[in-house]
Amino acid sequence: MGLFTRPATEMKCAGAPLKHTFLIDDIASRGVGAGKYEIHYAAPQQALFSVPIVHEKLRMLFEDRGFNSAYGRVLKAIDPGTRRATFVETKVDPTTKVETKTDVEMPYDYLHAIPPQRAPGVIRQSGLSWTDKWTDQGWVEVDMKTLRHLRYPEVFALGDVAGVPKGKTAASVKWMVPVVEDHLVAAIEGREGTAVYDGYTSCPMITRVGRAMLIEFDYHNNLVPSFPGLIAPLEELWISWLMKEVALKATYNAMLRGKA
Ligand SMILES: Cc1cc2nc3c(=O)[nH]c(=O)nc-3n(C[C@H](O)[C@H](O)[C@H](O)COP(=O)(O)OP(=O)(O)OC[C@H]3O[C@@H](n4cnc5c(N)ncnc54)[C@H](O)[C@@H]3O)c2cc1C
Repeated sequence: MGLFTRPATEMKCAGAPLKHTFLIDDIASRGVGAGKYEIHYAAPQQALFSVPIVHEKLRMLFEDRGFNSAYGRVLKAIDPGTRRATFVETKVDPTTKVETKTDVEMPYDYLHAIPPQRAPGVIRQSGLSWTDKWTDQGWVEVDMKTLRHLRYPEVFALGDVAGVPKGKTAASVKWMVPVVEDHLVAAIEGREGTAVYDGYTSCPMITRVGRAMLIEFDYHNNLVPSFPGLIAPLEELWISWLMKEVALKATYNAMLRGKA
């Protein structure tokens, strides 16, 4: 039995646990054979993906491939000796809205656990973090459109440390940099910048070796495909897999050198 999880915090590339689930299933089905193992996905969130239309597509793929999913479960403990994972499960009564928390144990042979994520200590101790949200994670308190600090206007944050609702991907950084650049140059010149970050986030969702969905979206959960008419975001395509395996790697490396 394979057990795949997600932390209760924000995380880099939130699609990564799903890609891992799909890939292990793909490899196992060609190795030991389909039907000879079980895949269970258990996560704190109430959906597989924050964008509703993507959640629905993934839910259908999970169903087609026979995966079991459980929502509202936060991984609390692992006993490697007995191969059992303990989760705190939160359930909300639909009528009274009263929340109950219970411990749930799940057995596993293979476990994919992602630790909770937070900003580096230097950021958390800087006094720049949000004080009324993400208090356990310390993301920087910036305006979601300008990435400018809400209390210290001379400070900007971009990349994963930015406390914005979406965007913890390298592809997002690509769209954040010109916005911050515009506002910095404007500030130096004594005027207001105009560039806006719209939450662009990209998730190349690998569903099999050789197949992926190139999912791109913004703050408003709109799909914003880079290649409309050419690459359909919610289809498992070889071309999307090729983009992830070949083109994106080169793009990310070029970004690191300031060339993309
Ligand atoms: C498994 C996985 C798959 C991913 N897949 C994709 C993908 O397909 N597409 C995509 O766009 N994104 C993907 N991402 C997300 C992407 O890697 C991150 O969003 C991106 O790296 C964020 O860049 P960053 O510079 O903000 O942070 P980071 O890349 O985390 O860089 C921060 C740097 O700061 C350093 N640092 C920390 N503290 C200090 C300190 N005190 N002093 C000096 N340096 C310090 C760290 O060592 C680190 O090198 C993936 C991430 C993971 C984990």
